[in-house]
Amino acid sequence: MAQTPVEKNQYIDVTFEDLTHEGDGVAKVDGYPLFVPYGLPGEQAKVKVVKTRKNFGFGKLIELYEESEHRITPPCDIFFQCGGCQLQHMTYERQLQMKQKQVQDVMRKIAHMPDVPVHPTIGMENPWDYRNKVSIPVGKRDGKVITGFYQKRSHNIIDMESCPVQHPQNDKLIQAMADIFDELGIEPYDVQTHRGVIRHVVVRTGQHTNEMMVVLVTRTKDLPKKEKLIEKIKAIDPDVKSIVHNINTKKTNVIMGPESKTISGNDTITDQIGDLTFEIGAHSFYQINPEQTEKLYGKALEYAQLSGSETVVDAYCGIGTISLFLAQHAKKVYGVEVVPQAVDNAKDNAKRNRLPNTEFYVGQAEKVMPWWYAQGLRPDVIVVDPPRKGCDEDLLQAMVGMEPERIVYVSCNPSTLARDLKYLNEAGYEAKQIQPVDMFPQSSHIECVCEIVKKL
Ligand code: SAH
Repeated sequence: MAQTPVEKNQYIDVTFEDLTHEGDGVAKVDGYPLFVPYGLPGEQAKVKVVKTRKNFGFGKLIELYEESEHRITPPCDIFFQCGGCQLQHMTYERQLQMKQKQVQDVMRKIAHMPDVPVHPTIGMENPWDYRNKVSIPVGKRDGKVITGFYQKRSHNIIDMESCPVQHPQNDKLIQAMADIFDELGIEPYDVQTHRGVIRHVVVRTGQHTNEMMVVLVTRTKDLPKKEKLIEKIKAIDPDVKSIVHNINTKKTNVIMGPESKTISGNDTITDQIGDLTFEIGAHSFYQINPEQTEKLYGKALEYAQLSGSETVVDAYCGIGTISLFLAQHAKKVYGVEVVPQAVDNAKDNAKRNRLPNTEFYVGQAEKVMPWWYAQGLRPDVIVVDPPRKGCDEDLLQAMVGMEPERIVYVSCNPSTLARDLKYLNEAGYEAKQIQPVDMFPQSSHIECVCEIVKKL
């Protein structure tokens, strides 16, 4: 095995230089990077090496010799155990600066385009209470049902009393659920033995409407004590408008299985973004921070520069949120999305908002786009908002072939954004500017919108 400059269990003094995308401190020992949770750039510390790989290692913070001026006491009591947030030990102002810097870094290192302007991250005035959705594992400790978050890199559940980044209504419901399962004797799922019934509770609240959806995910086909359960959940909050039973029989980390049944109320809840109303089903993606979503979509619309006469494609359209924003200012919008239930929601949302100049299709964007290209579709503007892995090369190729004037790329992963911008640059499309928008305060996740135009 290749020699590394440090060994497991060794104690060593380091200075942190940077942060990883996961929010860990980075220290270099003879050029060998050590990733250490909770270390901040500029800080000197004693760390213990806990794992070594060929090109990098992991450490644990033992003692801080010198604290960064950007370090604060995390407001949440369980921050250092929970895997939900990564940056609560850093001032919010600094979090925003770090996110901007991380986008600049990947534009230099991955895209090799250091000159593309990356604007200061648009943050929140109050970066708390923002999450409209929570997925909570259910477990048992000392004979009592507990609900909480998974500990970092493990299946241990940290019993949680309240979560400061959650919408308070979600918090209240989750708290009450543990007692209800106890009272009714509904057994929590056990990851080790693959036994038990209730795996997760997923709660989503419409920020503007307060409407709530509760999804009960079970390992079993049946949901025991169903009627009693419905009654008790509805009694927690009159805003519960939809209760859904989802079945997930597999040994998997994926939270929801493919099968869902509405057992009380509606199949969807509604929410508003700007002046549009959206129906959201249990299987549909919906941005988790409504206040910031409005800013994100506003930028996307600005970068699309629509005058009313354009044909637009919205790839990875979800329930049609961006599509409908664009449709207010375009001649025609085509959306494509892989989750059929989300496309059903998108069609209903177009009707509800009276935007008939839209068409939505179910399919993989990387298959549908080349097909549209072959059919002769030539949009003026293309918007993409892919998952973390970014755009497939087949999609990029079709997109370039369509020769749109502009591309707006909404990204939840700067590394894959940078990779795809490099491809687009070589294919005749220039990235003009990037705007990071902080959708996930206190966490290390970064969202951006990029304006891309066809080179002359
Ligand atoms: N623009 C939407 C959704 C963005 S999230 C919004 O802002 O709400 C990304 C979406 O891409 C999800 O809805 C996901 O289901 C969908 N998706 C993932 N892989 C896909 C693929 N290969 N083809 C089309 N859609 C895909």
